[in-house]
Amino acid sequence: MSDIIHLLPDSVANQIAAGEVVQRPASVVKELVENAIDAHATDITISIVDAGRTIIQITDNGVGMSETDARMAFERHATSKIKEAADIFHIRSMGFRGEALASIAAVSQTELKTRQKDAELGTKICIAGSKIESQTPDACPQGTTFTVKNLFFNTPARRKFLKSNQTEFNYILAEIYQTAIANPEISFTIYKDGDLFAKYGKGNLKQRIVNIFGKQMEKGLLSIEDESSIVKIYGYVGVPEIARKNGANQFFFVNNRFFRQKSFLGSVMRAYGNLLPQKEYPPFFIFFEIDPSNIDVNIHPTKTEIKFSDEFNICQLLEATIKCTLGKNNIVPSLDFSDSADYSDMFSPKNEKPVTPPTIKYNPEYNPFKSQSTPSYPNQKTNVRNWEKMFEEYETNKKDDSLHFDFSAENTCADGQSKALNIPFCTQIQKKYILAFANEKIYVIDIKRAHYRMLYDQFFDSFTHKQMPSQKTLLPIRIDLSADEAETLKTLLPQLQELGFDIEEFGQNSFVANGAPADVPIGELSQVITDFITNYSENNKTVKDSVQEQIAQNLAKAASLYRNPNMTVEEMQHFVAQLLQNKSFTMTPEGQIVTIIVEPEDLTKKFN
Ligand code: ADP
Ligand code: MG
Repeated sequence: MSDIIHLLPDSVANQIAAGEVVQRPASVVKELVENAIDAHATDITISIVDAGRTIIQITDNGVGMSETDARMAFERHATSKIKEAADIFHIRSMGFRGEALASIAAVSQTELKTRQKDAELGTKICIAGSKIESQTPDACPQGTTFTVKNLFFNTPARRKFLKSNQTEFNYILAEIYQTAIANPEISFTIYKDGDLFAKYGKGNLKQRIVNIFGKQMEKGLLSIEDESSIVKIYGYVGVPEIARKNGANQFFFVNNRFFRQKSFLGSVMRAYGNLLPQKEYPPFFIFFEIDPSNIDVNIHPTKTEIKFSDEFNICQLLEATIKCTLGKNNIVPSLDFSDSADYSDMFSPKNEKPVTPPTIKYNPEYNPFKSQSTPSYPNQKTNVRNWEKMFEEYETNKKDDSLHFDFSAENTCADGQSKALNIPFCTQIQKKYILAFANEKIYVIDIKRAHYRMLYDQFFDSFTHKQMPSQKTLLPIRIDLSADEAETLKTLLPQLQELGFDIEEFGQNSFVANGAPADVPIGELSQVITDFITNYSENNKTVKDSVQEQIAQNLAKAASLYRNPNMTVEEMQHFVAQLLQNKSFTMTPEGQIVTIIVEPEDLTKKFN
């Protein structure tokens, strides 16, 4: 029998190996931007067409490559960043495997233009499916431009596997955010389908965060700082008021490299303890500086976990540092952020000056449903909030008058029967549940889920009837979003309009709200919309429900009571009566229990 084993041609081997590194357009963006950073670029321009399917172009003003290096760069395991195995333990650059360019070139049509500072002419190389098509001198500016066209053109299966343009673009943005936060001294300009999408100018860490995530971050960030022999920790954590219902905007970096780590996240959450209601997560931007030999980044190229040899101790330090910052800020009366203090080099790791963390006055007990308590934010926003609050109360009272719910009147219940809805007894348990006695039955109601159920049905119905009453805000409420959130909101504005939200665009990544449907806590409107957008973008990736269903679901989730309310007996009666009238009051749309009903017969059985 003849021999049957042969070596795969490089192009095929590269294509197979590319699967490891290049999973989607976002992976290409990540690798090329990291290369630009390793090349000491200070300005990086990223141009994306068709969410990266058609063109991904990255231009940097870094050191550039010589003619020979430009050609070499596309070889597998070609790198300028390490020479021997031992170097891996001291790695400070982002890349070091020498795999990225070989992989990208294997599954796309790539063009490279590069020129070193002192070279008169640069080099242009065109390569498609690993095959060099041309190499010519080129009069390009100093630095490097990679243009990656038609990604996966030769691997149709991978191309098919890509998600919607919006999802792929969001993946790209997520990569850019990670890199942009870690490198605030580098400017990033992003073009989407030919239009300028965002520009993050050079600045400090805080400016970069605000630039990306919007102005709501500005007043809500507390600086953390701790240095020990094991690790230096610095960055920002959010005040409880800007916490969100999902884990968005949570970033860990070690030696400027983004990573995820469950144990570290656990430390952060433990530090907040019960300052946060359940299922709310604070934004954070936490940097660790550590001797590279104490971490192992030499794992799978696309994985973001990193092994720390001192994980346990770092966790303890992290928790203590955040606790200390939160504690300090709780007792220190107040400090106005708006005095344009200069934090420019506060976060530079080289900075030896003692750092005093800025403090912010906030009230961890804040409960939007408790009429007396108003959040005590510094500066004029307080007034706006107070006004909103007053107006909200005025509106609710007015509404109560006009609707005037008669608790003993005949009401049509969900089961279609007409019954006298008589609620003789109501009390709250742990601020979480209502225990009610009505129609000879005992109801135990999960308040948040019940509110969610009612809002969901209301929103869903109003898509068909389009007659949701709108409450007007006294003053326009401003909503500042990040660029990708703003994109999502823009596409959803028409549907939100139908639901009774009066929201308009207002400059770059900002919106103003002038009205909302009744039952949406209007004082929290900005938060509700932001939460909705994050929920929507996250869930939207997996759920196949209709757009309407998704909006109803995510909006209801965002708008439902998210801090445990302290309700008066009247409010409870109103709430229970409304719930029992709702078309379903036993389960959430996802099938979680809303109401437990104990019938008299159940009791008889129990006592038997
Ligand atoms: P790695 O980054 O792991 O070294 P890559 O395949 O990403 O591997 O890049 C190979 C080499 O090409 C790099 O080591 C670097 O020398 C060079 N290179 C890549 N991108 C650039 C760039 N934007 N500017 C200058 N040199 C670059
Ligand atoms: Mg690289």
